[in-house]
Amino acid sequence: MDKIKMLNPIVEMDGDEMTRVIWKMIKEQLLAPFIELNTEYYDLSVTSRDNSDDQITIDAAYAVKKHHVGVKCATITANPQRQEEYHLKQLLPSPNGTIRGILDGTVFRAPIVLEKLHPVVSTWKKPITVARHAYADIFNGTEYHVEEKGTAELTFKNEKGEELFHKTVCEYEGPGVLQSIYNKEKSISSFAHACFQYALSTKQDLWFSTKDTICKIYDGTFRAIFQKIYEESYKEKFEANGITYFYTLIDDAVARTLRSEGGYVWALKNYDGDVMSDMVSSGFGSLAMMTSVLVSPEGNYEYEAAHGTVPRHYYRYLKGESTSTNPMATIFAWSGALRKRGELDGNQELQDFAGKLEKACIETIESGTVTKDLVSMMEKGSTHAVSTDEFFHAISERLAQLM
Ligand code: NAP
Ligand code: MG
Repeated sequence: MDKIKMLNPIVEMDGDEMTRVIWKMIKEQLLAPFIELNTEYYDLSVTSRDNSDDQITIDAAYAVKKHHVGVKCATITANPQRQEEYHLKQLLPSPNGTIRGILDGTVFRAPIVLEKLHPVVSTWKKPITVARHAYADIFNGTEYHVEEKGTAELTFKNEKGEELFHKTVCEYEGPGVLQSIYNKEKSISSFAHACFQYALSTKQDLWFSTKDTICKIYDGTFRAIFQKIYEESYKEKFEANGITYFYTLIDDAVARTLRSEGGYVWALKNYDGDVMSDMVSSGFGSLAMMTSVLVSPEGNYEYEAAHGTVPRHYYRYLKGESTSTNPMATIFAWSGALRKRGELDGNQELQDFAGKLEKACIETIESGTVTKDLVSMMEKGSTHAVSTDEFFHAISERLAQLM
């Protein structure tokens, strides 16, 4: 059999620990036998980032801008403990944050849903994709701990120095706390476009929820921008595809989500998205089944798993012990990137391969061969837990049959 050729490269960002081990296994056992892999390789391991003073991360992000498709392995965001462990000269920022800053994207997180895997929330039948606006609000907020009696005020001055807004926020009789947050219409608009486009490309309804009854101006602006962009650019396309845009208060959205069947994209402001994506992923059962893609307004795509580098498994691996690490989300990051590359290049063979790779993974699990984390989510007695190596072996056998 001839190997599938790739016209343009995928930007490959290698990472750390157990996911780095899995990364190599995916390439060697599931991709290289069938594809003439064309990637532009960046080593984003914690030591490589440290040695390059993080230039490698910046270069990788610009490479995604150039080639439009990237796939990233989980990476360590160093803290003092990791600094000691890996002998790092500095504490660099989160690579995901750096890449997101350069690509200016929206992160979509979706679970891999299988018929035989039962979510913790029993009504959920289809994936719920959380779209988080990853810009500003409390994540770039200004905070102050008030120590004494005094006044907090909020003002806005334009470039000419004219004061256009002035209001007393609070008269403090004693100690307290104070916070200010902001956002920008440009960022909210790109977020809205990314959500509408993602919903269209996956043919799912789009929900958006905020607390605009309380934050009439702040959240009201988010709501108005979404509505305007929907009517101007997406209403007809949504109707033609039989999908809907639905705005509701966040309280109502949370209650509806727990009673829903799933099958929609849920757009959320930064903090809400941070919290709800963890709720949704634990509701579906396993972090190891959560996929994640960063979509930029310029049409760049970066695929990754939502989980981290699984250090506890890695330490066991280093001791030569057997592990049962679930590679699903990392494999689906690769299949997502290969499919997108195929779409952009008009390469049907590559798109078909992505589908077969996912099918091989799904059939392996449905046949009862699973990693340990999935056992409790499947019917009793229907499964046997295998090691990482055995799981890969089972997938590669099925894949070879499908090719
Ligand atoms: P983690 O690596 O996601 O692991 C947390 C726990 O979740 C694991 O100990 C394991 O539970 C379970 N788990 C996660 N992925 C799994 C998989 N594929 N298969 C089976 N079980 C899985 O999170 P963490 O321990 O908080 O973070 C570790 C490192 O990852 C940190 O240095 C952090 O900076 C980094 N991180 C990176 C990213 C990213 O690059 N996107 C995201 C998050 C964290 P059991 O041990 O109980 O089996
Ligand atoms: Mg969170």
